[in-house]
Amino acid sequence: MSAATQNLTRAEAQERSAHLRVATTQVHLDLAGDAETFGTTTTVTFEATTGATFLDFLGPVVERVVLNGAELDPAACFDGARIHLAPLAAENVVTVVARGAYSRSGEGLHRFVDPVDGQTYLYTQYEPADSRRVLATFEQPDLKSRFTFSVTAPAPWLVLSNQPAVGSEPVGDGLTRTTFAPTPPLSSYLTAVVAGPYHHVRDVWESPDGLRVPLGVLCRASLAPHLDADRVLTVTRQGLDFYHSAFAFPYPWGKYDQVFVPEYNLGAMENPGCVTFTERYVFRSAATRHQYQGRANTILHEMAHMWFGDLATPRWWDDLWLKESFADYMGSHASVAATEHTDAWVAFANRRKAWAYTQDQLPTTHPVVADIPDLEAAKQNFDGITYAKGAAVLKQLVAYVGVEAFFDGARRYFRDHAYAATTLADLLGALEAASGRNLGEWARLWLQTAGTAELRAQVEARDGRIERLTVHQRGTDPRTGSPVLRPHRLAVGLYGLADGVLVRTARYEVDVTGAVTEVAGAVGAPVPDLVVVNDDDLTYAKVVLDERSAATALAHVGAIPDAMPRSLVWSALWNATRDARLPAADYLTAVLAHGAAESDTAVLTGLTANARTAVERYVPAPRRRHERERLCAGAWEHLRAAAPGSDDQLIWARAFAAAVATVPAAAGRAREVLAGTVPGLPLDPELRWAMWQSLAATGCANRAELDAELARDATADGATRHLAALSALPEPQVRETALETLLLPGALTNDQVDATLEGYGQPLHPELTAPLTERYFAALRTLWAEHSIEIADRLVQGLYPGHQDAGDGDPADHPVAARTTRWLEDNADAPAALRRLVLEERDHLLRSLRAQRAGQDR
Ligand SMILES: [Zn+2]
Repeated sequence: MSAATQNLTRAEAQERSAHLRVATTQVHLDLAGDAETFGTTTTVTFEATTGATFLDFLGPVVERVVLNGAELDPAACFDGARIHLAPLAAENVVTVVARGAYSRSGEGLHRFVDPVDGQTYLYTQYEPADSRRVLATFEQPDLKSRFTFSVTAPAPWLVLSNQPAVGSEPVGDGLTRTTFAPTPPLSSYLTAVVAGPYHHVRDVWESPDGLRVPLGVLCRASLAPHLDADRVLTVTRQGLDFYHSAFAFPYPWGKYDQVFVPEYNLGAMENPGCVTFTERYVFRSAATRHQYQGRANTILHEMAHMWFGDLATPRWWDDLWLKESFADYMGSHASVAATEHTDAWVAFANRRKAWAYTQDQLPTTHPVVADIPDLEAAKQNFDGITYAKGAAVLKQLVAYVGVEAFFDGARRYFRDHAYAATTLADLLGALEAASGRNLGEWARLWLQTAGTAELRAQVEARDGRIERLTVHQRGTDPRTGSPVLRPHRLAVGLYGLADGVLVRTARYEVDVTGAVTEVAGAVGAPVPDLVVVNDDDLTYAKVVLDERSAATALAHVGAIPDAMPRSLVWSALWNATRDARLPAADYLTAVLAHGAAESDTAVLTGLTANARTAVERYVPAPRRRHERERLCAGAWEHLRAAAPGSDDQLIWARAFAAAVATVPAAAGRAREVLAGTVPGLPLDPELRWAMWQSLAATGCANRAELDAELARDATADGATRHLAALSALPEPQVRETALETLLLPGALTNDQVDATLEGYGQPLHPELTAPLTERYFAALRTLWAEHSIEIADRLVQGLYPGHQDAGDGDPADHPVAARTTRWLEDNADAPAALRRLVLEERDHLLRSLRAQRAGQDR
């Protein structure tokens, strides 16, 4: 299905931008036709200093191509992905009349029919390169254009784009044609169209200097009762106040609509003036403080992009971090500076950075500034390095140059590069000018090497006093095996137990540069029970606790009163578990012992998820059943002990529901919860479906019961949850059919793919999927070629047989690991993006086998 020329390379993009300057792009979309395709007419005006070029377009039919008044033969000039244009003049006008295909995978123009009321909802999602599924365009960020959209759609629909509508006229047959104001210069992937009978809440934000920005919050009509628009708008106004003042560049896009859309592949997308979000942020069920914090963070992340990314745009995807790391940093920074979520850095330290540490230890990791030769590689780059590590590195930069210089640099960057495309050098130039420091060496070590450093404290003591305290740095680039030592501005905290509380007795800020750094100020201090290297989480490094600190942490982590150091200690314990230095069972013991003391809902949510991963992946097979029961029983006790109606109660209820999936004996208790016997616990759809899915996975629920639950929750989300529960039923035929359906291109929507994979990956009965392992490896190349990259990614990861038991031998000789190695050897010529995913799955498997071995050897 994919044309060979679909995977645009960096070299081709550079060639085009060297010879082209795009002026305007006019797009008309006709959404009045059938449910499969839509009409699209694009007219592009551009200057050229070359004789030939091509537009990108992915769609079923190109009907006409008119270049400078001459008709080109579509059969000759359109190859399925590109429309070849020749001969060019100095100034050119090209019009392409075509039909595009509606998407069901969330890429391009996605079409969704709400099962509640039969209404149709459309939205676009393009990054990195799917605007070509809707319009004929130069699909690369640095060829910016002024876009003018017009859309013909059923009259009752609301139609939105990046700019406000400037005209609307009936065109017969119950249709309306809406025309939008031209955009400022914009990259193609940032354009957007949203259409359908969306529920629309309006407001206005006004800056102190009189800028008026109309605000909109939208969702499907059937979700309107759940939309807390006031809360969304409060964060929105707080964010606009903050950025308007901090960036000293007026909000550049006129209006600001935020649309919650169905079957969305990501958290949100920063289309200027028309941001799209996943509907999961419209809370249909009870939500914890952590969930509200996460939504606020995303709102502020996307809003930061109105400047970082939309106004100043990375030239090519190697510099994706220029916008994503900044937006990620700003999400937390602005949460603290401008909203009620003043604890946002705790969640960042514990959750967001766990993502970065995990990714940065894979053999496929990359420097923050990546080498992205083509669009398939670009697609893989929206990862824990680009987002979380990049943001953590910026946090370290703030500790290094100071927050004032950092924001001053950002302001220069916007001022100098507004509406243009940028590179690393542009940003460094602005930061160097603002800080007066040469950042060349800093950037080389932090942005152009890969991997995470390990930091460890060493205490030498005499007579209860510190004689010498040193911080040891060790770092290797996982790609090359070469050592990497970075400069870290960080804090070292000393903690002592007093009356059952672990209090900080001293804090030293030091510059760690080489392999060993003295903490001179600590000499003579009382020997601490716990040393926290990177206290306050200023730098990015994996912290390994010294022996005494590790023992204190396991016994007393809940006794640290402040959330930040507590979350850092939890993070160190989790990294130790993943690294096979701490038996997974000990991690579980700590979570069950100290979970009740965890007041931060983000951290507690993470602890319960990690505990489950520890049990399912890292506990040795002979102990697994016992540890599953221990987790399940522990979650149940915490659920019963938590205050009625509290976040803790909800988090433990979800943890219990998840744990039931591998503990059939707990089915009775799950049914008690479903019967409403836990006082104060909101029995809303999310929790009910979680219980039903786990009951299904253990074979303790039947189809009739799942159907009855669907009748009770006859919504789009209900249908997806129902599919996930059905897919979890422990029957060989269910797995077999799931695999066949998943491999059939276009058989399922993106959300249905996820739901089916959730059922397929249930770990209680690995014997059901074991016979399908060979089919998986045999299908990899075909599935990569036949599915869109978004869906193919999920299939490669979700179908991988990653739940395996360690034997006595070398983990690399485990049959599935060895089979994966053989596939990699036999498929050296497979697309790099596919190989990257398979390499990562093998690495996750090897890690789990090593951790199991560590638990056995105990
Ligand atoms: Zn972003």
